[in-house]
Amino acid sequence: MVKYAIGDFFADGFFSPSATEGGNVGMIIVMEKNASEDQIRHVSERLQEEGFQVHLSKGVKKTIIGAIGERTPAVMESFEVLPGVEKIVPIIQPFKLASREFQEKSTSIKVGEAVVGNGSLQIIAGPCAVEGREKFLEAAHLVKEAGATMLRGGAFKPRTSPYSFQGLAKQGLEILAEARELTGLPIVTEIMDTRMVELVAEYADILQVGARNMQNFFLLKELGKIDKPVLLKRGPSATIEEWIMAAEYIMSSGNKKVIMCERGIRTFEKYTRNTLDLSAVPLIKQLTHLPVIVDPSHGTGKWKLVEPMALAAVAAGCDGLMVEVHQNPSEALSDGPQSLIPDNFKRLVLKINKISSVLKNDY
Ligand code: PEP
Ligand code: MN
Repeated sequence: MVKYAIGDFFADGFFSPSATEGGNVGMIIVMEKNASEDQIRHVSERLQEEGFQVHLSKGVKKTIIGAIGERTPAVMESFEVLPGVEKIVPIIQPFKLASREFQEKSTSIKVGEAVVGNGSLQIIAGPCAVEGREKFLEAAHLVKEAGATMLRGGAFKPRTSPYSFQGLAKQGLEILAEARELTGLPIVTEIMDTRMVELVAEYADILQVGARNMQNFFLLKELGKIDKPVLLKRGPSATIEEWIMAAEYIMSSGNKKVIMCERGIRTFEKYTRNTLDLSAVPLIKQLTHLPVIVDPSHGTGKWKLVEPMALAAVAAGCDGLMVEVHQNPSEALSDGPQSLIPDNFKRLVLKINKISSVLKNDY
């Protein structure tokens, strides 16, 4: 377990102004088409001398250099005249590393055999919580057979009531690992607390940050220090910009493997648990280079709405889905009303595959 002294937070600049605070902190240097390696190196070195963090992105046609640091007009002018530089573009948006301007190519993240963000569709399925060994292993086999490509299940559950089932904790992680062993499916599970990062990272293939923790900046910074993908759920009342800034926290702390997950936001509507904002899918794709998946289970709270919204999400261009599946939803310890039974999940996968193949042929 990680133990902190208060000085740790000062030591890594936690309370000092950082690149993620927005303002005049970023610019992109577009190099000329035929800029030489020497010219690119020279510009990068000059940027570092000026105190900028440098991110090189070599495209087919052009090289662009993303620079994070204090951007003054004088600094911009001094770089504009360097040999090989075509132009300097200030980044006005508060997010930098996540931005599509910064990196044109979509990020794809390898997780076991699967790749998130390479045009394939990942289907993450399983019960809301790991409730017990036998039941979970059975669920794992059922979702795999139906076509899931990854397995989900919470070992630590963020419940509204402290009296509700809180998850099996370490025992839950061990069951998840056994299910991975048996099915070969990578596992996705929630991390709720900085003190658990080391433990959860030992077991999980993808660490999920739940909606309630989207702006737990201490947790985000800790997740920036690990080398495992992070699935970042949108907060129930987070704007798109706040959500991307949360991703920026993880990325600016060193971990570039961030997967965004739209799971509905709180609105005045009461028929659904949340309002699934599918416009987030194309928006995240336009604004950032990160993969985006959709969770129609939490997004609607009603199992009968899961299939149509999942299909709509695929049509909107998401990189994957996260769907809650339970053998016996009426007895589930959490989120039964939004869980599909395995047969309905199987039907959903068949329909999803049909939609994806139509889209693939069309574009
Ligand atoms: C979950 O995936 O079970 C969960 C708690 O999701 P969210 O954080 O989106 O509510
Ligand atoms: Mn749930």
